[in-house]
Amino acid sequence: MEREFLPIVTCMRVRPILILILLTTSVAIIGWMYYAVLRTIDKEPKHSHHKVITDLDACCRDKHIKSAQYAHFASVAEQENLPSALGLFRALAHSERIQEHYCALVIHRLGGHYTPPKRILLFRGNTASNLLRSIALEQMRPDTLLHQHIGRHLYGGNRMAAQALIWAAAADRQHLLLLQQAHAALCTDHTMRYTVCPRCGNIYQLDSQDPFCPHCLTDSREFVLF
Ligand SMILES: [Zn+2]
Repeated sequence: MEREFLPIVTCMRVRPILILILLTTSVAIIGWMYYAVLRTIDKEPKHSHHKVITDLDACCRDKHIKSAQYAHFASVAEQENLPSALGLFRALAHSERIQEHYCALVIHRLGGHYTPPKRILLFRGNTASNLLRSIALEQMRPDTLLHQHIGRHLYGGNRMAAQALIWAAAADRQHLLLLQQAHAALCTDHTMRYTVCPRCGNIYQLDSQDPFCPHCLTDSREFVLF
């Protein structure tokens, strides 16, 4: 009779041990998964901030160089007594500077630091060639880093950085159109005037400006006239 009962007793002793092992293993697996999720969440913001600051810094530097270049082209147009080109290049230089400052502000808010480039190579030529060179440079930009990463920052939750880059990208396309129009009208007598939104750098032709900036809602009475 004792022999028949022995396996049953052994089985009753083994079962709690198996349950204990399974329970311990389950707790260990859940704990490891929880730690892995927390580790990912902890790492992600630092990683994305580094990338967004890199993109904003590249945008800032690009805008800084273009602002200096357009200011130089404006001085050439002034010497050649071309008021429309002078007004456009001054408006472009101002717009680029505003966008550089806005991108730099976002970098500082994200905990980064921006230093403008110290040496800038200025192109030398007359206004006609300066317009053509500016058009060629803007036409090279559609596939730049700026355009490629905006969506990632926008959908990654960094709307402030995405907004700065969207304004910058929209300005690049708008500047290209204004430069093409100015080059086409270079030999006409009609003098164009331009206004610039002081907050986002959006440029308007004076005779077709909006009452409020469609990008940042600034009142047109605050626009800067060139
Ligand atoms: Zn604006």
